Amino acid sequence: MAQKGMATNSFTLQILHLEIFVITTANYIFTYGISQLLCFEYAFDRSNRFSVTIVSRQQWGAAAPKKRETLKGSAQRVVIHHTALPRCKGQKECMDCLVSIQRGHMKDRGFDDIGYNFLVGGDGAMYEGRGWGVVGAHAKGNNHDSLGIAFMGNFKNDTPSTEAMSSVKKLLQSGVSQGFLNPKFALFGHRDLGDTECPGGKLYAALPQLRGTT
Ligand SMILES: [Zn+2]
Repeated sequence: MAQKGMATNSFTLQILHLEIFVITTANYIFTYGISQLLCFEYAFDRSNRFSVTIVSRQQWGAAAPKKRETLKGSAQRVVIHHTALPRCKGQKECMDCLVSIQRGHMKDRGFDDIGYNFLVGGDGAMYEGRGWGVVGAHAKGNNHDSLGIAFMGNFKNDTPSTEAMSSVKKLLQSGVSQGFLNPKFALFGHRDLGDTECPGGKLYAALPQLRGTT
């Protein structure tokens, strides 16, 4: 009886050791996993310091482009436009507006796609037009080395919102950090390059705030 008791004790002890081993290992893996996750999140935050959330073409329901021409190298210039349309409120209304702008550009004006590379709503939501690294159709004779960004609305009398200005600034910083935009890019209003009122007097007056990425 005594021997059987000892055997049971020894068996219990082995189970106990195994349990301790399993718990310690699990604890280690868990702690290691969490620390790796934190490191990853930290790295992710650092690499996306200039991140701006972009509503993708798919999200706003863009039609496929007829064709796409890739920009040679990084963009040297940024051209700011306004859509000269009534201001859209909220993402649903802005997305409907984007669909109609694209239709107008492709059907009425014969462009291959929506003309601008990016568009920004008054609430600061950023929408993908042609996107990064693609030649746009926004400033005749100036499209092959530039990035075209349109503020949605008419800024002849309206002042651009702080949110929209801040999103564009972040977009430019993100473009530089990803190599799509030359760090020494020059920024123009459309009227600097063509016979147009675009991007409206109030937005034109605010452009110095967008120059430089720091
Ligand atoms: Zn314009």
